[in-house]
Formats: sequence, structure tokens, C-alpha cells
Amino acid sequence: MGALIEDAVIDNETMVERFLRMDRLPHIWCPGCGIGTALRSTIEALADMDIPQEEFAVVSGIGCTARVAGYLKLDSFHTTHGRSIPFATGLKLANPKLKVFVFSGDGDLFAIGGNHFIHAARRNMDLKVICVNNFIYGMTGGQVGCTTPTHSKTSTSPYGNYEPPFNLCFLAAAAGAVYVARWTTFHVRQIKRSVQEAFAKRGFTFIEIISPCPTVFGSRNGFPTGLDMMKYFKANSLTVAGADPRDVEIEMGGKLKVGKFVDNERPSFQDRLSEMWGDLGLEESRIVEAE
Ligand code: SF4
Repeated sequence: MGALIEDAVIDNETMVERFLRMDRLPHIWCPGCGIGTALRSTIEALADMDIPQEEFAVVSGIGCTARVAGYLKLDSFHTTHGRSIPFATGLKLANPKLKVFVFSGDGDLFAIGGNHFIHAARRNMDLKVICVNNFIYGMTGGQVGCTTPTHSKTSTSPYGNYEPPFNLCFLAAAAGAVYVARWTTFHVRQIKRSVQEAFAKRGFTFIEIISPCPTVFGSRNGFPTGLDMMKYFKANSLTVAGADPRDVEIEMGGKLKVGKFVDNERPSFQDRLSEMWGDLGLEESRIVEAE
């Protein structure tokens, strides 16, 4: 038993060292932040897939979550605010063999980057988008954002937000994503499975990971530690596989609907391009070994 535990610890260290730039640690995230948990589940998913590590490329924008690209030991690109999806689109079109994924936050992807998101989904661009949603602009001081739940307090809505938030899963599904799932950082195994399912599909996929931000969201809304919010996720999450995405809006105090909501097929941007113009070399591997 002792040997088994020892092996597991060594495997764990090997996996982490394989996927993280250890020289960049310690990371910048606050104690209790959920971004590390979301990253850990994603790394586990990547490590267990039969895809060579050099075929992955990750793109992020700006914000606390966007720091992930700097820590991952992959071809990684930390781009400008809101522009992770157009950058990832260019990367995928230039080198179609790459498994390109975007790992960024709700403000980056859906506020300044919102238009890029809906058009990539409409085109069914072959990108895997993982969005950590902590309901707020964390890095810049806790301002209200497009995902802040109604009535929640932020630094710019101290008496409570009076706007309705985006339902990100509905937005993704309505714009054309072929795979849509939502989990919280409490659902580590489900995140891993969803990431693997997303990579197995062609086209635009979206995974929302609801995550604690104790520093600027939780502290104003009754969740002063990351653990408080994890307990809230555990007590209030309701798995509703296949639910209509329009019915999974988020309201603090109500049930938090999680699960896989969309899993369908339609031609990707690359499929349509090939249909019109032939192969154009899009399927040829252009991965060049670094010298
Ligand atoms: Fe995480 Fe919030 Fe701290 Fe940013 S501000 S690192 S989201 S806890």
C-alpha cells in the first residue's frame, strides 16, 4: 500500500513537471483561488490523452486566469485583452494539426472578447475554449462584469449588481458551439472528462468552470475563503445532463445547474473550406521540429 501511494506521488510529480514550467513558480494566484484546480484537472486530461505534448498549443488573453498560458509547458501564447480567440484562430488555420485550446477568464472572453467568441462559434472553428468564470474582474480590483450575478456586490456595485449576467452556456450554444458543458471547481473529475471529450470533437467546444475568487468576489458576498465557496458548490450544484442551455442561468442562492448540455455535430470551418476548395494542404502536418 505504501509503495502504491509512493508511486502515485511520483507519477503526480512527473505529470506536473511535464506540463508546468516549474521555473515560473510560485504562481501569482491568491490562497483559495480556484484557477489552479481548473488547471490541474485540465493537465490531467491532457496527460491521459494519446496526443503528443508538442501538438498542443494554448492561448490566453489578459486577467488572473490568463496567466495559465505562462505556466503551461506547451507552445503557449499570452495575448492581449480579449484577443485570445482571433489569435488561436490564426494559429489553427496556419497549422491545422495543432490541438489549439484557449484557457481564459469570463471578462476576457465575454466582455472585451465577446464578439470574437460568438463569431468563432458561428464559424465552428476547431478550437477548444475553457473559460474560468469567477463572476468578476479579479486582477483589476473586483469590478462588476458581464457574468456578475444579479444582486452580487462588487467594488463598482457596492449595493448589489442590478444587471442580469450572461448565461455563457446559452450564449455558446446559440452561437453554434458543438459541445457545451459547465462544471464548478468542485467537479474535478467531470472537468477532466469534459476536456477529453472536447478534444475528441471537431469544431468549436466550450467548457465553463465556475470558480472561487475569495479575494474580490467572495469577500463581498459571504464567501470569505475559497473553501466557503467550494462548500457552496458542493451543496448547491445540480447535475442536469442534456438540459436546454437557456434554462441554466446562474442565480446566487439558487441551484447551480451543471453538466454537459450540448454534444452535436455540424461541419467545422475547415470542413467547409475543404468542401469548397479541396484539401489546400490543410490536412498536411506542418509541425516542424525545433532545431
Ligand atoms: Fe484568483 Fe480572485 Fe485572486 Fe484573481 S483576485 S488570483 S481570481 S482569488
